Amino acid sequence: MPIPYDRLKTALLMERAALTEQLQQLSAVVKEEGVGYSTHPADDGTLAFDQARDLAVRVNAEQTLRFVEDALVRFDTGTYGLCVDCGTEIDAARLEAIPYAALCLKCQSKREHR
Ligand SMILES: [Zn+2]
Repeated sequence: MPIPYDRLKTALLMERAALTEQLQQLSAVVKEEGVGYSTHPADDGTLAFDQARDLAVRVNAEQTLRFVEDALVRFDTGTYGLCVDCGTEIDAARLEAIPYAALCLKCQSKREHR
């Protein structure tokens, strides 16, 4: 199965737009909550929980955004779809599932088990 580059690039661009928007919304929320922080002391527990959850979501989104940006750079340099570790072509089915995958399955599991 050949790698559907056009479709994957579109998917990456859409993913990048969605993540950028999500991150903008998250920082807007934190700003609003920050204003009310001292005026509602009874809500501090919930607020801290919400902020921790927002932070986790944000860290996750930022990391994914970085992977997506890296993948788009590989499109420009003509190395998209090649494993950044060993240079072999990444399985098309894997790229369909994770368009920003930078490693082939073999190198990915090697890293995870290190
Ligand atoms: Zn590899």
